[in-house]
Amino acid sequence: MATGWKSASSSTPPGRTLGKVAALAGLSLPVEPRKRNVFVFEAREKYSDMPLLVDPSGIYVRPEGSVYLTGGAEPEEGDGPADPGDFEVDWPLFEEVIWPVLATRIPAFEAIKATRAWAGDYDYNTLDQNALIGPHPEVGNFIFANGFFGHGLQQGAGGRQGAGRADRARRLPHGGLLGVWVQPCR
Ligand SMILES: Cc1cc2nc3c(=O)[nH]c(=O)nc-3n(C[C@H](O)[C@H](O)[C@H](O)COP(=O)(O)OP(=O)(O)OC[C@H]3O[C@@H](n4cnc5c(N)ncnc54)[C@H](O)[C@@H]3O)c2cc1C
Repeated sequence: MATGWKSASSSTPPGRTLGKVAALAGLSLPVEPRKRNVFVFEAREKYSDMPLLVDPSGIYVRPEGSVYLTGGAEPEEGDGPADPGDFEVDWPLFEEVIWPVLATRIPAFEAIKATRAWAGDYDYNTLDQNALIGPHPEVGNFIFANGFFGHGLQQGAGGRQGAGRADRARRLPHGGLLGVWVQPCR
């Protein structure tokens, strides 16, 4: 897991298993795997220019080509560390939770058919659901870019750039930052 900086530092990309990997170095971090389901459905109505819609319940829906993606229905109650081997889709979430909410918000979604789904784990930062980026305060050569929750595809590149910069800054004599602005949360 070297950062390619030919240095004594190591970066930790292992997503949802960060807590376990950090524990190998005797570190405990507030990141754990949380299971999430994403469903794909077809509808007679095509709203291809529809933006991402997030209902106050947390359920989201957006078009994806000729179909729609939806999710965000996992109840807060009982939401805890996931079993790393459990990728079983929770279909009742779609039938009993998502569909009624979508049909209320968009009457045309009364007539929809779920076609596919998958389940996976968010790397969930239990502290504030935000990414952890930069060197560990005590083990300075352990660089983190993790805990991206459900935003890692969007934030990953910038986050890793920040982690790389934080690592370089740690090495630059004047401690200056290059490009991405990364400030430790105090
Ligand atoms: C259902 C679902 C829907 C999502 N939807 C979105 C979305 O719409 N938009 C978005 O931006 N993000 C979304 N995300 C979040 C996004 O997938 C993650 O935030 C992102 O994948 C995190 O990237 P990562 O590289 O940190 O970790 P991962 O993608 O988890 O990659 C970690 C890698 O490390 C490897 N690894 C693990 N342990 C070790 C080890 N000990 N040694 C070496 N390698 C190891 C793993 O095999 C894996 O390849 C979603 C996630 C899920 C589960």
